[in-house]
Amino acid sequence: MSDQHSLSDLRGQVDQINMQMLDLLSQRARIVSEIGKIHTANGNAHYDPAREAEMLTVLQQSNKGPFSNATIQAIFREIFRASLELEEQQARAKIKVQRKSPDERTIITLPNGAVIGDGSFQLITGPCAVESHEQMEAAGAALAARGVKIMRGMAYKPRTSPYEFQGLGEPGLQIARQVADKYGMAITSEIMDASQITMFMDYVDIFWVGARNMQNSFLLKALGKIDRPVFLKRGLSATLEEFLYSAEYIVASGNPQVMLIERGIRTFEKWTRNTLDIGGVAVLKLESHLPVIVDISHSAGRRDIAVPLARVAKAVGADGLMVEVHPNPAVAMSDAKQQLDFPQFNALMDELNLPEMA
Ligand code: PEP
Ligand code: MN
Repeated sequence: MSDQHSLSDLRGQVDQINMQMLDLLSQRARIVSEIGKIHTANGNAHYDPAREAEMLTVLQQSNKGPFSNATIQAIFREIFRASLELEEQQARAKIKVQRKSPDERTIITLPNGAVIGDGSFQLITGPCAVESHEQMEAAGAALAARGVKIMRGMAYKPRTSPYEFQGLGEPGLQIARQVADKYGMAITSEIMDASQITMFMDYVDIFWVGARNMQNSFLLKALGKIDRPVFLKRGLSATLEEFLYSAEYIVASGNPQVMLIERGIRTFEKWTRNTLDIGGVAVLKLESHLPVIVDISHSAGRRDIAVPLARVAKAVGADGLMVEVHPNPAVAMSDAKQQLDFPQFNALMDELNLPEMA
């Protein structure tokens, strides 16, 4: 009986200590979060290994048992990790492109009525590059017949070699605009430099920042000052965090109409041009309210897996698909291996069977 009594008494004491520890942990978390705010404001990293080592040393010196120093270290490391996570979460929650609630989404409506980000699945298609009026006219007719509302009109091509086709320049934009107007489509085109913005305003409905320019913060800030949507492609080796911070440059500068394009990242794999990061698409959809488009052409670098990749893009919850389509890919001046011809594109559309494209 007295054993029972002392057991419940001791348990009561443990419960009390648990409550005190909970209170202390919460107090500690609040103080750490104040420190985190100072780090964020000063642009400093939240994790400070020297500070962590210093705290552990003091704790070990003060440890009188019964726990070993190793145990104390393991327990406190867990507390430090939880605090760091809290600090980082708070810093991320501050950025504008971060999703603040599950139903928050950016919806973009184009002048031709096309909508991206409303839960529908949009197609962005067209040749890799504008090559001639005839080529764009043929593409425009074939794409419009399948309900495509957003066409690629690429006139500046950032090629690996300076000896490869660099694009038609402004005459290419003129061709793209003419054809798009004829078929009621919107035009998107890659901008290389902030000095081109004024000229591009005459031709494009959506600005396009290519993978190689994802971290051109000067260009991103300049695009933040205009009132027109922007497609932002993920850099060749950019992490998702870097990708979202690039989008943040545009949004924080005043332009909320940003859409993300996953285009594959560099890995050791050679059988595809890049590795399509489908897990990354799911994470972007979870972490950000911006629409996410999957580029199945530059990620794969080959046309024979377009259908399964398109299925995956739709299944993962992307807001649309980017696929290159050319009247005659065999003679294309860039990316010949990955562009679909019209029958292949039609087969892809049949497979996707999108009511919004009917
Ligand atoms: C493109 O989509 O036109 C392109 C050049 O792709 P990326 O910037 O992803 O290489
Ligand atoms: Mn291309």
